Amino acid sequence: MTKKASQSPKKMVLSAKFLTPLSLTPARVKVIRVESENSLVSLLTLDMQMPHAQPGQFVMVWSPGQDEKPMSIAETKPSLQLAIAKAGPCSKKLAESKPGEFLWVRGPLGKPFWPVGKKWLLIGGGYGFAPLRFLARVGMENGAQVETICGARTKDLLMKPLAGIGKSHITTDDGSAGVKGNVLVALEPLLADKKSKFDCVYSCGPEKMMKGVAQLCKAHGVKSQLSVERYMKCGFGVCGHCAMGGWLSCIDGPSIDGEEALANSEFGTVHVDRAGRKIKF
Ligand SMILES: Cc1cc2nc3c(=O)[nH]c(=O)nc-3n(C[C@H](O)[C@H](O)[C@H](O)COP(=O)(O)OP(=O)(O)OC[C@H]3O[C@@H](n4cnc5c(N)ncnc54)[C@H](O)[C@@H]3O)c2cc1C
Repeated sequence: MTKKASQSPKKMVLSAKFLTPLSLTPARVKVIRVESENSLVSLLTLDMQMPHAQPGQFVMVWSPGQDEKPMSIAETKPSLQLAIAKAGPCSKKLAESKPGEFLWVRGPLGKPFWPVGKKWLLIGGGYGFAPLRFLARVGMENGAQVETICGARTKDLLMKPLAGIGKSHITTDDGSAGVKGNVLVALEPLLADKKSKFDCVYSCGPEKMMKGVAQLCKAHGVKSQLSVERYMKCGFGVCGHCAMGGWLSCIDGPSIDGEEALANSEFGTVHVDRAGRKIKF
């Protein structure tokens, strides 16, 4: 994360500054390795170096004959990694890629998370935990102390933990692993514990979950950053499809300040579908 990125921009439209001509040009990339994270998510390692990519950014991945979809950067070392959940036809095809096959990738795109202080709590729901592992690794390399909460509906859908990290907490909705309930059940006592005193809580996952995280953090006077997911098409602020209450999620986000998100009337309430219709969450 650059020094400039460390300030939460007041005027969010400035974030198109993260775009470079390189990030707009699709590259043909070989799939090197495909590992199973859980019953729904595959971790793809691609033969693509992206050393300038920062945690919280994403790439657009085109599967010829299918579609082009946004995917968060799950790691850049030793090369680009994506954690892909089978949500529909395109993501299923991507998640079932075989080593040796080729995909087309453009990026990095979007506004990364920015560092706030040195004591971080990272909260991931489902595949949203993958970009947070990347954030944890970069943060720890830069002296941050990191604690995590990883949530999923059931044990089978948990993402793999990051080795060598500080304290990690697990929650499952059905109680099949860790604490029973959603991530908020684990978050509340951590925020209430005066000894914890986090400088910032970073969260990525379902929007309703992130809204709960931002509300709890605000109530405890702790800063938060979220990664918003809206239906994206161009990924670089031209088509306007990912508009969210006056922001373009692809360039003003996906990483946004939690309190600014809470002040946005469409956060956690409405999103736009493939054809541009507004849908209630
Ligand atoms: C910034 C960002 C980062 C993302 N990172 C990841 C990731 O790391 N791993 C992962 O598995 N998924 C990620 N997603 C979501 C992923 O892009 C969609 O799940 C995927 O595009 C589904 O496409 P599909 O054709 O398989 O499914 P569909 O049947 O078309 O849709 C399934 C669901 O995915 C949503 N979706 C479909 N197309 C898009 C799109 N172009 N943009 C946003 N949402 C879409 C739909 O609204 C629907 O809820 C991310 C989305 C965004 C916006």
